[in-house]
Parts: sequence; structure tokens; C-alpha cells
Amino acid sequence: MGGISHELLEWVPGFRELGIMAFTTTRQAGSFALQSPEPAQVVYDRWRDLLETVGAPRLAFAHQVHGVGIEEHHLSWRGILRGADNDGHLALRGHTAMAVSLADCVPVFVAHPSGVAAVLHSGWKGTAGRIVQRAVSRLVAAGLSAAELRVHCGPAICGQCYEVSPDVYLQVTGTTVERPTPVDLRRQIVQDAVAAGVGQVTVSEWCTKCNNDRFFSHRMGDIGRQMGVIVAHSGDDPVP
Ligand SMILES: [Zn+2]
Repeated sequence: MGGISHELLEWVPGFRELGIMAFTTTRQAGSFALQSPEPAQVVYDRWRDLLETVGAPRLAFAHQVHGVGIEEHHLSWRGILRGADNDGHLALRGHTAMAVSLADCVPVFVAHPSGVAAVLHSGWKGTAGRIVQRAVSRLVAAGLSAAELRVHCGPAICGQCYEVSPDVYLQVTGTTVERPTPVDLRRQIVQDAVAAGVGQVTVSEWCTKCNNDRFFSHRMGDIGRQMGVIVAHSGDDPVP
């Protein structure tokens, strides 16, 4: 058996019972950054291991731009796809693994018991742009009940470690402050998900900066990147 040891992955609680595999890779699983001082073959091998780990024929990620774009994937290809500028991925059917790249920003995992899945990269700009609410809206428009959705915020910089300017604080929270103030992105994402009607929301206790031995952190000077990955294994894959 190839692939990444499951002990090197931080699993999203409660998703496995839905037939959905969702995790964040750790520092010990290595960096997935394509721009890296490591030999390219080492990084490519790691990606191949990741594809093997997810047990799906396809794995999508994208060049991320701290935006609110969410790409919907269909079952028409195999292999690893690096898409155009986007910070979210969703698939209404199973067997498409999707990933976002992270080093302090929040990996937001979205799942529905029918096997619909999404993953989002939500830093302060994505959070201010309410990317989680955009994802929920897309899924509701596809006929799903928001109350049946589950959202999980994975390892990310915590509310004690992340101080922002009054302007950023206002954009993220809608609240005016006088001086640089710590902001908890995950708390805001939870509020936004609940406001959008999501039935079940959970948050990882890991902070990428406090727990820098386990996760890469941009603010701790890391150039390495972990991946937040989701894939539903429900239904048949019709692509031969
Ligand atoms: Zn922290």
C-alpha cells in the first residue's frame, strides 16, 4: 500500500460516517508547495501519494488568489488538475477529490450526507467575502437543505495569534475598532455558516502558529504548505 500514512493526517471529525474522507495534511507529511526549495520530483511524488491516499481517480486544486471563486467539478477527467484562479471547490457527485493549499488560512470543509462535498481556502479576504456563505448558497441552489449541511474549520491561525489592522477587522467582523486587534477567523466563519442555516458546525483545536511543530505557518516563516482535502466516496464513478 502506498499513499500517506493516516497518522500524518488531521482528520475532520464526523465526516467519515457520511462516506466522506476529509483531512488536513501535517508538516510530517511534507510540503505540497509547487514553488519549493525541494527537488521537484520529491514534491511530485508527494502529490502522487496524496492521489493514492484519497482513493479517487481525480484530484483538483487551483492557483489560489485569496478570492471567493468556487469551481464546480464534474466527472470528466482523471489525474491531478491544477485549475485557474479559485479558492474553493465543490462536487455534487462523489469520486472527485478536491484540495486547498494552506499555511495559516482556514481550510473549510463542507459535506452533505448525500455525498456532496466542498472545500474552501478562507483567509481574511475569503472570510470577509463570506466564501462559506457563497458555498452554502451554491449547494442550496442545487437543491440541498442548508440544515443538513456540515461545516468544519480545520487547523488555522488562532484568535490569539492573528492581529489585524482596524480596516481588516472591520471587513472581517463588521465591527469598528481603534487599533490593531486580534481576530479569530474561524469564529467568524462559524457565525457566517450558522447564519446561512448550516445545521452542524465544528472547529479544529489546532493553531498552525501555536502548533508549528505539527503544521506549516506563514507567520512563523514557513514556505511549506499543507493541504485541506475532501472526497466523497458515495455512488458509482461512471468514468471508465
Ligand atoms: Zn495560535
